Amino acid sequence: MSAVLRWQNTLWHALMRNGDIRSHAILLKGRKGIGKFSFARFFAKSLLCKNPLDHRACGQCVSCNWFEQHTHPNFVAVLPETMLSVETVSSSQTTAVQSESEGHPSGDSPVKRKPSQHISISQIRALDDFVYLSGHQSGHKIVLIYPAETMNSAASNALLKKLEEPPEQVLFILVSHRSHRLLPTVRSRCQQIAMPVPDTETALAWLQQQIKVSSGQLLNGNTGVNQLRALLALSGYSPFEALAFAESDTQHRQFIDVIRNPDRFDPLAVAEMQQNLDLIMTVEWLQKWCYDLLIFGAAGIIRYHPDCEMHIRALCQRTTPHAVLAYLRFLNTRQALAYHPLQAKLFLEEILIHYAELFTPVLFGLTRDAV
Ligand SMILES: [Zn+2]
Repeated sequence: MSAVLRWQNTLWHALMRNGDIRSHAILLKGRKGIGKFSFARFFAKSLLCKNPLDHRACGQCVSCNWFEQHTHPNFVAVLPETMLSVETVSSSQTTAVQSESEGHPSGDSPVKRKPSQHISISQIRALDDFVYLSGHQSGHKIVLIYPAETMNSAASNALLKKLEEPPEQVLFILVSHRSHRLLPTVRSRCQQIAMPVPDTETALAWLQQQIKVSSGQLLNGNTGVNQLRALLALSGYSPFEALAFAESDTQHRQFIDVIRNPDRFDPLAVAEMQQNLDLIMTVEWLQKWCYDLLIFGAAGIIRYHPDCEMHIRALCQRTTPHAVLAYLRFLNTRQALAYHPLQAKLFLEEILIHYAELFTPVLFGLTRDAV
């Protein structure tokens, strides 16, 4: 995916028409899943392109080829280790930074550890040669930092030093879903650009096109469109999130189908069904489902599962917003554990037993205190 998305066209033209990059650092900010990362990459590719057409990367020149091969000497992407497998991201450019900075100088085999969800100070320090030494080519050097809010405080401070003494011809592109979590001093050094969100119909058309391209299927007819609408709602109307959800749509439907029928709900069986799937994903599904129970119970609104109103209404009659809120808080405390569970099945059993308790509290003999 290497083009400006339809809902980003106005912004793109405004930036290009005015030559409107006034800073050595820009911050692309906005909700997750609206195409900020693809915009940032295309923007970088276009700035590096040898032969841009109407300011857009030509896709033909040697620079564009390097960029697509993830070997451009004037471009580095810095991401948390957990995201290094993101399909569209340079493996060579990112891991180069990684291995230089976090290698094992003794040559001993590394101790196995979980990949980090944060951008570390060593990753930022490892940029020194790239930003301060002269480039392999003349022109811009570009550093893309994504998601910028995953920099820990040491990494943020290390970046701040670079932003305070900006190296020549280097452009930092920070991309953030939660820009309020960035250091204010980092934010204030950047030209901040609010990224546009597509309206529902535009998002739906894009999603339909993407699924057609990836699966060769065209989802015509009401069923297909309704499925996509449901995915969009589940994603909070973020099309890239919806596309990611499409891959697990069948499992999600099975999961919702069992948890919306508490009389037939067997927490142990569901734990078994889910144990080999991504736990974080299951927790998120449960959070969204319970969020709908909460706001429907309190205000009659459904955000993520508009096609399940009948079941949500029935469940709300068997519990209270207060109990759902307590359960959501409990889920929040468990969410961090989902990254490193000792036993996936036990983890799931615990959260699902407490979910069942929302509707049949005495059946399992557990009290809220146990939560
Ligand atoms: Zn080009």
